[in-house]
Amino acid sequence: MEVLMATTTLSPVYDALLDYLVEKATPQEIFAFSISDEAAHRAHHLMDRNNAGTLSSDEDAELQQVLYLERLVAMLKSRSLAAFSRMVYLSDSIRQHIRERASGRCEYCHEPEQISLHGFHVDHIISQKHGGSGFPDNLAWACPACNITKGTAIASYDRASGALVPYFDPRGQEWEDHFEMDEDVILGKTAIGRVTVKMLEMNHPEKIETRRWLLKADKA
Ligand SMILES: [Zn+2]
Repeated sequence: MEVLMATTTLSPVYDALLDYLVEKATPQEIFAFSISDEAAHRAHHLMDRNNAGTLSSDEDAELQQVLYLERLVAMLKSRSLAAFSRMVYLSDSIRQHIRERASGRCEYCHEPEQISLHGFHVDHIISQKHGGSGFPDNLAWACPACNITKGTAIASYDRASGALVPYFDPRGQEWEDHFEMDEDVILGKTAIGRVTVKMLEMNHPEKIETRRWLLKADKA
């Protein structure tokens, strides 16, 4: 911290970093930080002058700041990467919590996990690409079909209204408010329901077949 303490004014790149950290707190976003082209250009210029031995004392102080900043950013990125890894590789206890919270069924298409041949996935409701966190309030239990078709998308155009509509959010919304069952078909009751049914292919022939089989087993 010596360099920081010794200087009375901070290089604008510090402001940029500090503002960024205040605004964007997720590890992914911290990891994505990069200094502006202008600041990078200035740093190269200072390095060149330093190598040529023509650096003034003010410029030398500025260069020390830049070098310190580089180390600081490297440390921050290393920490954010570690935090991100912890979020991605969810512990067994968090997976268990998410599975139990969903009562063991897909929070989108409601398929029960016990009839699935493949393990269910932990879905990021708002994908990490869009800044979604790895915390349980952004996670849902999803069958592989819903999770894979959803991908990193978070919204789509509703054909009926033409509006851009976000997908169903199992944490903030009630399934029954947006979907209803018509025998073996899931219908969207709202624009949110409609885009989610369509984009997650919730009425794919294989899904319908599974539901028919379940309905039959229920009646038996
Ligand atoms: Zn599903």
